[in-house]
Amino acid sequence: MAIKKVIKYGTPSLREKSKEVHKISKKIKDLVKDLMDTLYAQNGVGLAAPQIGENYRIFVIDTSSGNEALNPIVFINPKIIKKSGAFVSNEGCLSFPEVYTDVRRYTDVVIKAMDSQGRPFVLEANDGCLLAKAIQHEFDHLDGILFIDHARNRFEVEQELAKKHLPTIELDRMVDESELEAAIQEKLAEAKK
Ligand code: ZN
Repeated sequence: MAIKKVIKYGTPSLREKSKEVHKISKKIKDLVKDLMDTLYAQNGVGLAAPQIGENYRIFVIDTSSGNEALNPIVFINPKIIKKSGAFVSNEGCLSFPEVYTDVRRYTDVVIKAMDSQGRPFVLEANDGCLLAKAIQHEFDHLDGILFIDHARNRFEVEQELAKKHLPTIELDRMVDESELEAAIQEKLAEAKK
């Protein structure tokens, strides 16, 4: 298949809600392969279809590193069916070259999806592991939500975006996460004791 160009922040289609996949057609299978090829070419952990200009509810994740065997996971029409816990995750995104910032995430998630053959599966990711972070990050892409919308420090993100000549933060897009933030504060206070 093919390595695709990763769409950068500022492109309107990154903000669109992606559509459900109704049939695992050849087009969809090719799209999954393109996602994998592009993910590996970019040395990424996860990549969502809208990031290569296809607004379908599909993303791929591979958390393997170094000499570990590749471990690609394909998620089609995913639904996060359970989320709990809170922590601070430092993240970047292939659509934001070299921009990193702290965001709020759930520590534990359970996700339901279909694999590349259309078979349903349920996957659990706990303790704020890389997979748990990646699932939340990539899932958001399908609803046009970006990691900077979860930023704990918007001033830092604004500076980073300006440095990389990317459009500034969209304040009306920021997710209200006061409950998640309260849980994080509680955990931080606990850790200091
Ligand atoms: Zn991303």
